[in-house]
Amino acid sequence: MDTSAPPAELDEDGLAMLVDALQARGLAVIGPTVRDGAIVLAELTSADELPYGWGVEAEAGTYRLRRRDDRAAFAHSAGPQSWKTFLHPPRARLWQADRAEDGTVTVREDDDPPPRYAFLGVRPCDLRAIAVQDRVLTGGAYADPVYGPRRAAAFIVVTECTEPSGVCFCASMGTGPGLPDGAVYDLALTETIEPEGLRYLVRAGSPDGEDVLAGLPTHPTDGEHARRAVADAAGRMGRTMDPTDLRSLMAGTMTAERWDQVADRCLTCGNCTMVCPTCFCTTTEETTDLIGDHAERWRRWDSCFDLDFSYLHGTGPVRSSARSRYRQWLTHKLGTWHDQFGSSGCVGCGRCIAWCPVGIDLTEEVAALRAEAETSEGAP
Ligand code: SF4
Ligand code: SF4
Repeated sequence: MDTSAPPAELDEDGLAMLVDALQARGLAVIGPTVRDGAIVLAELTSADELPYGWGVEAEAGTYRLRRRDDRAAFAHSAGPQSWKTFLHPPRARLWQADRAEDGTVTVREDDDPPPRYAFLGVRPCDLRAIAVQDRVLTGGAYADPVYGPRRAAAFIVVTECTEPSGVCFCASMGTGPGLPDGAVYDLALTETIEPEGLRYLVRAGSPDGEDVLAGLPTHPTDGEHARRAVADAAGRMGRTMDPTDLRSLMAGTMTAERWDQVADRCLTCGNCTMVCPTCFCTTTEETTDLIGDHAERWRRWDSCFDLDFSYLHGTGPVRSSARSRYRQWLTHKLGTWHDQFGSSGCVGCGRCIAWCPVGIDLTEEVAALRAEAETSEGAP
C-alpha cells in the first residue's frame, strides 16, 4: 500500500461512482439512508439514497431528524443501528433438523455462503466498535461462525465525523471523531462542503481500497479543509466522560448509593444493549412445526437486562433487581471488559443515551459514581 500517495478528493459524482464500483465487485453496499424518521443503515441501490441534506438532533432520550441548509450526506451522528446488525445479526439460524417418514432424523447446519458487504459511512467510533467485536467474536479459541466469515469479507469505507450530536463523547474515549492511529479500513473519506459542492478527502487503507480508488476520478487537494472540519468536530462533542481509571472506579463502587438512584429510573428494557455497537450477548431458542417433523435452532441477541439472562436452575435469576442489572451492564462495559478483552467496551457513540426511553446517561452516571467515591474516600 502506498502511504505516500498525495492527498486526493472525490466530488459528488465520484462518491456515486464509488458506490457503483463496490456493487460491481459483487458487494451489497450498506450505508445510511432516511427511513421511519431516522437515519438507518440499509442496502443502497445507489448513492442517491444517501441522506443528503439531513442532520440529527440527539439528546438523552431524544433523537430527531432535521433538515440541513446544505446537501451534506454524512453530517449526522449515529442512528439506532450499528454495523453489528449486519456482522452479528439479531437472529441467525444455527441448524435445522427434519424427521423422515421412517423416523430418520437429518440435521443440517446452515452453510449458505456469507453475505459480502461494503459498509459505507462507518464512523471512527464504530470502526473501533468493530475492532472490539473482532476481539470478542474471533479473537479467542472459539471463533464465531456467523460473525467471522461476514467480517472477513467486509469492505469498510470509514467516514470521519464532522457533525457530532449532543450525545457523542468519542473524543474523550479516544475513538474519534478522526481516524485514530493504527485504524484498519479499506477507504477513508472526510466530507466537506465547499462553494463548488461536496468534496470527499479520500485515502486508501488496504490493497483492496487502493484498487477501488484507482478506478475513481480524483482531484488533488491539500486536505486542509477536511482536517480542520474534523478538528472542529472534536471541540463540539455534546458530552465528555473522564476516562481516568474507569476499571478501578467500577470495581470500587459496587456498593455505591448511586446504583439505587439509577435503578429507580431504569425500566430494564434493554434498549441500551440492543443499540450498543459492542454488546454481543446471545441466547438460543428452538422452534418446531406443529407435527414435530421439522425443528430449527436460532440464535438471537440477548440482554443482561433480561431477568432470564442470569437465571440459574433451582435458584432463579441471580440479578433480580434493576440495580444489579444496570450495575452489571455498566461495570462490565467500563470495567471487567478490560479484564476479558483488554479494552473498554464503550466507544463513546452515545446511542445508549439517545435511545434510552427515560434518558439515562452513562456519562452522568460515571461522573456521579466518581463524585460519590471521592466523597467517601475523603470521609472521616
Ligand atoms: S438504562 Fe435505559 S435503555 Fe437501558 S435498560 Fe434502563 S431504561 Fe432501558
Ligand atoms: S455503552 Fe453507550 S456510548 Fe458506549 S459504545 Fe455502547 S451505546 Fe455507545
